[in-house]
Amino acid sequence: MDTAMTREELREGVREVCEGFPDAYWRGLDSKREYPEEFVRAMTEAGYLGALIPEEYGGLGLDLADATIILEEINRSGGNAQPAHAQVYTMGTLLRHGSEEQKREYLPKIASGEIRLQAFGVTEPEAGTDTTSLGTTAVRDGDQYVINGRKIYISRVQHSDYMILLARTTPKDQVKRRSEGLSVFIFDLREAIGNGLTVNPRRVMINNETNELVFEDLRIPASGLIGDEGRGFRYILDGMNAERILIAAECIGNGRWFVERATGRAGEREVFGRPIGQNQGIQFPIARAHVDVEAADLMRFRAADLFDAGEPCGSEANMALLLAAEASWEAANAAMQTFGGYGFDAEYDVERKFRETRLFQVAPISTNLILSYVGEHVLGLPRSF
Ligand SMILES: Cc1cc2nc3c(=O)[nH]c(=O)nc-3n(C[C@H](O)[C@H](O)[C@H](O)COP(=O)(O)OP(=O)(O)OC[C@H]3O[C@@H](n4cnc5c(N)ncnc54)[C@H](O)[C@@H]3O)c2cc1C
Repeated sequence: MDTAMTREELREGVREVCEGFPDAYWRGLDSKREYPEEFVRAMTEAGYLGALIPEEYGGLGLDLADATIILEEINRSGGNAQPAHAQVYTMGTLLRHGSEEQKREYLPKIASGEIRLQAFGVTEPEAGTDTTSLGTTAVRDGDQYVINGRKIYISRVQHSDYMILLARTTPKDQVKRRSEGLSVFIFDLREAIGNGLTVNPRRVMINNETNELVFEDLRIPASGLIGDEGRGFRYILDGMNAERILIAAECIGNGRWFVERATGRAGEREVFGRPIGQNQGIQFPIARAHVDVEAADLMRFRAADLFDAGEPCGSEANMALLLAAEASWEAANAAMQTFGGYGFDAEYDVERKFRETRLFQVAPISTNLILSYVGEHVLGLPRSF
């Protein structure tokens, strides 16, 4: 999928699925805080959620640049890719670091949708930004690991069959560097919930099923360890570039949706007997947002192309997410202002998308941490923490 034409075909295919799920569908789910079950099923059946799984394991075998188009188009259509996006990339840890046996066991079922792997547990109440301080422990006991600890804001646990978990297998005071001694596991949530894992839902600003998790002597099979014990932080970092680039594309989809809706409204809505878009006070913020979304889009493809070429892309992935998250937020504000009071009215969808796109300046990584990465790793400024 490397020609402009085939990318266009991919866009068209995703748009066709999204057309079956108009604004009213997403608005209805948002008001009831429900999961987009039918949409996720339709995307799975079309193969799009298995985009990054190689063909030999039953996926589409697309490269990352192509996969970003899928998530972009969902958000551009007025939908929200977040309930579905983790099925696209959470399996990356397994694909890159799992054993052949694990890959054969899980990847074909993830590609077909038979199982959902879209819960990913890293953040803790005492360790959000500071990941290596996490306190959840996994202690080996025969052919099992025993898990204890707490996680917070872990999304889609109630709509996932399996989960990827980052936990500490060697205490912090016994490793040279804090990033050592962490391990990654895959385990069956259906067996775990009620048997050592308690799920406490958290209500957040957007329609995103997210939870506090309490692990109390949860026993999982040792065969769920991915890669080597103690190297899990490195494995999680490997997946973060892909996640950041994919989410940058979601922001770009949102940014384009806001610009398109604002432009439409500015051309139609008449105040003082003329379209409000005739006023440069309305026109310029929309035009500026468009410019910034387009610029962010270039960085998103630059990062994705480096990723697909197997080149280092940490700085580009981070910069793409920062630029895209900020551009989509700027576009959201321009749309809100253009719609006036109607922007606050749920029926116009601006307020819903406005809430949804705000998340990306905080999660999966906050913009401050991206700037700190650029300061330290790109510019060579002193480390601040
Ligand atoms: C809707 C939602 C869904 C989520 N889903 C998941 C999920 O599925 N799995 C998962 O593991 N996590 C998930 N998260 C968690 C998310 O990744 C974290 O919230 C995010 O990484 C920030 O961590 P924190 O909330 O603990 O913020 P904190 O670490 O408390 O930081 C608070 C603020 O301080 C800033 N800050 C901290 N240290 C510095 C510094 N040295 N310099 C400058 N600024 C600093 C941060 O940038 C941030 O803005 C989700 C969060 C939300 C809101």
